[in-house]
Amino acid sequence: MIIEGKDLSKYYGNGENKIVALNKANLKIASGDFISIMGPSGSGKSTLLHIISGLDMPSSGTVTFDGKNIYEMDDKDLSAFRRRKIGFIFQQFNLLPVLTAKENIIMPLLLDRRQPDESYMKQITELLGISNRLSHLPGELSGGQQQRVAIARALIAKPDVIFADEPTGNLDSKSGNEVMEMLKSIWKELGKALVIITHDSRVAQMAERRFTIADGVLSEVTAG
Ligand code: ADP
Ligand code: MG
Repeated sequence: MIIEGKDLSKYYGNGENKIVALNKANLKIASGDFISIMGPSGSGKSTLLHIISGLDMPSSGTVTFDGKNIYEMDDKDLSAFRRRKIGFIFQQFNLLPVLTAKENIIMPLLLDRRQPDESYMKQITELLGISNRLSHLPGELSGGQQQRVAIARALIAKPDVIFADEPTGNLDSKSGNEVMEMLKSIWKELGKALVIITHDSRVAQMAERRFTIADGVLSEVTAG
């Protein structure tokens, strides 16, 4: 499995008001990669993530999944790519407050008219330490627990790649560390590719391949 972004640029606005949010970024994600992208607020991190995961078209450049340009796919294939190949984790968890943890976790499958694999559900919720919290509403859970429910939701469709957009940004440092340790064990035990966006250098250091982004320009900084 390879997702490859080539020469990705994104502009907003026109003329004097033109903003270059992303400037000719190149990023290749292969099976089992653990990649971090670090940069300050407004540097283009979320823009890059949305483009490379099929949520938003670039102004120029291409994104391919196993050689196929995702933005040339029809709506049905593009939404299958998003629902089955990719999982997302957001800074704000984005759980639905009226649904239980379990209902939140299986929602992406229900939207895709599929049934959860109960033994896989058990495996991931145990790995994440939330198997005894599944009937709780998000409001009854701590921030760290809510983020772990969101991670289970990102994993439920057995995607190839997990994208996390500042996953610890809303957590205190202890819960943030727990969440990072869990993401690392998911990467190791389930063999998913993991792409983490952060402005925390300690989080970025955990990755095998490290990138920085500034004013829309992406650079690899992996040592050695
Ligand atoms: P980050 O995630 O690193 O904080 P973003 O990718 O969200 O940065 O934003 C990069 C730049 O693009 C910022 O200058 C931001 O204001 C701008 N931007 C992002 N989305 C839009 C939009 N929908 N319309 C106009 N400007 C945008
Ligand atoms: Mg962002």
